[in-house]
Amino acid sequence: MTGAVTRGPINLVVLGPPGAGKGTQAVDFAQRQGTPNISTGDILRDAVRAESELGRRAKATIDAGGLVDDQLMIGIVRERLAHPDAARGFVLDGFPRTVAQAIAFDEIMTGHGPLAVVDIAVPDDALVERLARRRVCGQCGHATSVAAGESRTTCERCGGELVLRSDDTEATVRERLRVYAETTKPLVDYYSSRPNFRAVDGQQSPAEVGAALTQAVEDMLAEGTAG
Ligand code: ADP
Ligand code: ZN
Repeated sequence: MTGAVTRGPINLVVLGPPGAGKGTQAVDFAQRQGTPNISTGDILRDAVRAESELGRRAKATIDAGGLVDDQLMIGIVRERLAHPDAARGFVLDGFPRTVAQAIAFDEIMTGHGPLAVVDIAVPDDALVERLARRRVCGQCGHATSVAAGESRTTCERCGGELVLRSDDTEATVRERLRVYAETTKPLVDYYSSRPNFRAVDGQQSPAEVGAALTQAVEDMLAEGTAG
């Protein structure tokens, strides 16, 4: 992990396919700059766990590998970003996920300070294997990767039980990758011609990806292109 961020906080959107390591990078970056990390996947999983109205509406979609309705997601994010803790910068993981969400997000971001968009790029064939190895803590949500044949079952952070995420089963993973290619990849095209967009190589250690991500953000800020 790289050191503390010295400049003021920024608004960062982390893009990337399922299994790219977005969640890990988003959490680390947000912690380093002292801003909230807003993960729409976590918001939805919390809602499922709490059996709220949102959770009930989203569960079947998530477990099938589909995408939750755009207007519902836009409403959730709009509301979350209006909280005072997001006024001094935030990291967004999992949103926008469709071009319709990105268009709404452009409008939400008006007057919200500098924005950087970073795509964590990982080729398809690496993703299936990564997702098969991913485990999450049922208690604190910490994500970790188990090696082939490894039988570790407890979370190193809190001692909770490590489980396969309900949408990391093979059939759902395939569907999520299909949905990603069809619906979310066009987002990279939506953003890629903008000066506040960078792609980083996701096929490095988490620490190296973190360093590349931080560097990309620093470069955009130095150039004055984050906007
Ligand atoms: P990953 O990036 O590993 O696929 P996430 O934790 O970001 O997973 O999201 C898990 C699931 O939650 C998605 O497969 C989708 O069903 C739902 N979801 C999360 N964010 C959004 C969003 N912005 N729009 C629609 N559905 C979403
Ligand atoms: Zn834990």
